[in-house]
Formats: sequence, structure tokens, C-alpha cells
Amino acid sequence: MPSTASHPFDASDADIILRSSGPEPVDFRVYRQILVLSSPVFATMFTLPQSQSAGNEVDIPVVELSEGADILDPLLRFIYPVARPNIQTLDAMTPLLEAASKYDLAVVPGTLRYKLLSTSILEKEPLRVYAIAMRYGFEEEAKIVPPYTLRTKLLHTPLIKELEHISGYAYHRLILMYCKRGSEAARLLDTWNPRCRYDSTACTQWMDDYKRRAREELLVRPAGDSIFISSFIWARHTFCGNTGCELSKGLESLRAQIDVLPDTI
Ligand SMILES: [Zn+2]
Repeated sequence: MPSTASHPFDASDADIILRSSGPEPVDFRVYRQILVLSSPVFATMFTLPQSQSAGNEVDIPVVELSEGADILDPLLRFIYPVARPNIQTLDAMTPLLEAASKYDLAVVPGTLRYKLLSTSILEKEPLRVYAIAMRYGFEEEAKIVPPYTLRTKLLHTPLIKELEHISGYAYHRLILMYCKRGSEAARLLDTWNPRCRYDSTACTQWMDDYKRRAREELLVRPAGDSIFISSFIWARHTFCGNTGCELSKGLESLRAQIDVLPDTI
């Protein structure tokens, strides 16, 4: 016997039951009109003949859905006049967006698309965000993501399932921007040649080592900010320390040039 969902999906005067899939199905006792108003797919579905629930109560139609209870519960909370579920991760968002697309529940993507732009998600998994935004046509969100990919080792990202749903064109555009930024940043570094007016050996050693490491880093993380953090700058050598040594200013000017390289598609 299926169990009954928790409040508010346990209404005794419900006029339809949505039954979740899985080994332990759950009955969501809901009001047909709310579903019809929210989803043209449900509206059409309810015009078809439905099976009846068996039991002591007045029989009401049962619709068996392919989603599990863990998806149906938050999905229905988006369309019911109750507090919306607090969805914080891409793992939680993805199945909801898929189900919402299937049932044409516009309120779900309309709400979740903004959550994609939470800084913690964008910084951690920009490629997944990009793929999800492209898949569901969230154009504004998709435009915001590319600069975040520049701070990651994009070409070394493990294969992610969301990429199955976007075009090779959309993915390749991102990769081209990423690689172009890396090569242009490396070119700026190659032509960057600030002088230590004291011809200090320390500064020469620093320069050789820094340029070599920075070049490698820019090709795998072309945003460029990682080569200007102190632990990177001073990883092996230091400047001569003479007042007036201009390497420090040189770093600032290199950063300014890299910062304005294109970072969008
Ligand atoms: Zn110096």
C-alpha cells in the first residue's frame, strides 16, 4: 500500500491523487484545480480517463507519475500556496528543472534560474551552471557564467552529465573564449619585461622563475588573478628589496592588461 504524503498533500477532501514511483510509492492527495492552473500538461492529463483509488474513502482518480516522492514534494510546493522549498545545490535543482520542463511548470524554472547565480555555486561548478542555463534557455544567466570558468581548470573538468543536453556549438564557443583568453594572457606575459634598475641578481632570478610559472598557470586558469596572489608571486624568490625597484609596479601594470582581456562569449 502506498503511504500518504505529509501536509499539505494529505488533504482528506482532495480530488486527485498523484502517486510517486519507486519501491515505496507515496500518494500526494492534491487539488486538481491547482495543478490545472499551473500546468498545461496536467490540464491535458486530467481530461483523460484515470484509474480510481481503492479503499474505504470515496474513490478519487489516481495518476501514477514516474517521479519519486523526493521530487514530487518540492515540485508541488512550488505551485501550492505554501512556502517554497529552499533549493541550494545543483544536484537538488537538476531533477526539479527536468520534471518542471516535463510538466510545463513555468514557476519552477522562473524561480530556480536565479539560484544558479549564487556565488558559491558559480565559483564551484561554473561549467554545470553554464550547461543547465543553456539547456533551459536561461540566456541572461548563461552570459554571466563564462568569466567564472576562467578561474577553473576548465579543460580538466571531469565529464558532467549536464553537457549531454547542450549543443557542441554552445560548448565550443565557451572553450574557444577560454583558450583565447589564456593565449592572449600568455602573450602579454611574454612581452612584459619590467627592469630592475639595480640589475639585481635576486630580481633576475625572480623574473625568470615567475614568468615561467605564470605562463603555465595562465594557460590552465586564464582569469589571471591566481598569478597575483602573494603565495604565487613569492613562491620561490623575492625582489631585491631596493627602494625604487620597479618590479612591483610592473606586476600592477601586467594585471591591469590581463584584467581587460575579453571574458565573455
Ligand atoms: Zn630589483
